[in-house]
Amino acid sequence: MNKLKDKVAVITGANSGIGLATAKLYLKEDAKVVLSGRRKEALEEVAKTLEGDFITVVADVSKDEDNKSLIEQATNHYGKIDILFLNAGIAPPTPTTEVTAEHYNQIFDINVKGPIIAIKEALPHINDNGTILFTNSIVHQKGFDGLSIYSASKGALRAYARVLTSEVKSRGIRVNSIAPGPIDTPIYGKMGLPQDVVEEMGKGFAESVPLGRFGTSEEIANAALFLASDDASYINGVELEVDGGLSQI
Ligand code: NAD
Repeated sequence: MNKLKDKVAVITGANSGIGLATAKLYLKEDAKVVLSGRRKEALEEVAKTLEGDFITVVADVSKDEDNKSLIEQATNHYGKIDILFLNAGIAPPTPTTEVTAEHYNQIFDINVKGPIIAIKEALPHINDNGTILFTNSIVHQKGFDGLSIYSASKGALRAYARVLTSEVKSRGIRVNSIAPGPIDTPIYGKMGLPQDVVEEMGKGFAESVPLGRFGTSEEIANAALFLASDDASYINGVELEVDGGLSQI
């Protein structure tokens, strides 16, 4: 399998869930992969399980200097970038009446500012005809209680991606987003909610998905491979829902 042969991919949030599954698939497809994450220990653990040509870089995407350093380390090692996958994100819920500036800043710094700064740093190094990919979400198309700021952050990212698509078109760089529905990843355990509430919420999500279940990280990784590969050479500016139909009916 060599759909990404000689391609260099930088993936944020690559030590867990969707990012990790994508890193594994990209490596299987012969890409050189820069796996980035916030926690050094988690990256080290993950590195032990991987095979192929890769490096790991510790970077907190909410910090401008870390985004700069991520791109510097990636390009110092591999010389260029072909695929930039902005995947890191958080989804802590809060009722609208309890939203604080801190909650807003935390989510927007990671989910919106991080990708925007990383892209600014990366653009001079992204090859013409390269590709930029976002993990967005279907949340900005619906209205899930408690997820107002998270949904707003993903809506902001979608708007940003449209402008970016236009601004990089002369270089043949394709910009696409994936909008997952509920996917079985560690993100739900990081929401700061009691386990029984998470389980109840999970049941509710699964019931509302036409396919009746959560998706897997691997199912999102398959979409991330498709959109990054030449198979999607005429697909540009889209947001691809990978959600078992949740956003459509
Ligand atoms: P996850 O928690 O397994 O992965 C999130 C990754 O982002 C982790 O590697 C985490 O370390 C990283 N991250 C968080 N804050 C960071 C920071 N400040 N700096 C660097 N890295 C940071 O969850 P996941 O479900 O794989 O999430 C990946 C993306 O998918 C997120 O953008 C999330 O919003 C999106 N998403 C997930 C679902 C779902 O149901 N799981 C649905 C829609 C969208």
